[in-house]
Amino acid sequence: MTKPLFKRIALIGIGLIGSSISHAVRRAGLAADIVGHARTAATRDTALRIGLITEAFATAADAVRGADLVVLCAPVGACGALAAEIGPHLAAGAIVTDVGSVKGAIVRDCAPHLPAGVHFIPGHPIAGTEHSGPESGFAELFDGRWCILTPPSGSDPTAVDKLTALWLGMGAKVEIMDAEHHDLVLAITSHVPHLIAYTIVNTAAHLGRVTDSEVIKYSAGGFRDFTRIAASDPTMWRDVFLNNKEATLEMLGRFSEDLAELQRAIRFGDGDTLFKLFSDARQIRRGIIQAGQDTSAPDFGRQKAKS
Ligand code: NAP
Repeated sequence: MTKPLFKRIALIGIGLIGSSISHAVRRAGLAADIVGHARTAATRDTALRIGLITEAFATAADAVRGADLVVLCAPVGACGALAAEIGPHLAAGAIVTDVGSVKGAIVRDCAPHLPAGVHFIPGHPIAGTEHSGPESGFAELFDGRWCILTPPSGSDPTAVDKLTALWLGMGAKVEIMDAEHHDLVLAITSHVPHLIAYTIVNTAAHLGRVTDSEVIKYSAGGFRDFTRIAASDPTMWRDVFLNNKEATLEMLGRFSEDLAELQRAIRFGDGDTLFKLFSDARQIRRGIIQAGQDTSAPDFGRQKAKS
């Protein structure tokens, strides 16, 4: 049997992503031991009961002692305070990473608290579901999905290689980019789409003319797919928009201009413009399927048990 990559992984936050990391690490035998910390006793107890971790700690400081890899899996807005708490207790040479959906703010909030001799390499797996909590994770979540690492300039290449090997071992593909570029790309591929989903679901809910039962009854007409995205965790998404403000506003501005173009085409009966825009969009969907990032199954490729 080959030697595990890490002796002791400390998960700080054990929700969808933390629990999926535990499943995927254990599936591939990537760590000798996984311990963890979550905010509430209920999550810590569940994580122990279902075997996600071998030891649960009531504080993050206690959880990171002796760990050669620490993964912050808490909401983006909580990571700065967690970094301040764990900083003095980290083992020399440890790698600290995170999974937050925003990267610039994580670097800004965490880096000042991490001592020299500890390797800080932020990360973001582009994989998720609308479910939360320690029981929502599964080993296959990262299979075939991208994980973006944003090592600050001057990062130790050996530490970056080791973290890359971990994500590859968990089934992901790894891309390296800088934090600012990550935030711009994710603003359009993830953050703005979530904002649109939250908006449309609330707009429908507030419509006086369409009764709730009609909204639910006819939801398969497109609305249903927005409600899945809009069911995502409110704390996580509040923190995303508070911490990726500039890039989101930039992409939202472009979106508003494009929406106005469609609005004008509808108003003036410009069918050619509508047809062209819809055809272009359809091509993008085909590109995503060809790139293996989704299937053409009509349920958007999500298996019933995991969705
Ligand atoms: P989640 O299921 O809601 O789990 C969050 C975990 O963080 C819970 O264990 C929670 O503990 C813990 N936590 C919250 N505040 C904390 C604090 N102040 N101190 C310590 N622990 C705290 O969330 P998730 O979906 O795994 O998301 C975690 C991170 O992954 C976020 O930064 C998010 O941006 C990123 N991410 C999410 C997705 C997605 O689709 N969900 C995808 C990629 C990346 P309790 O249960 O005890 O409250």
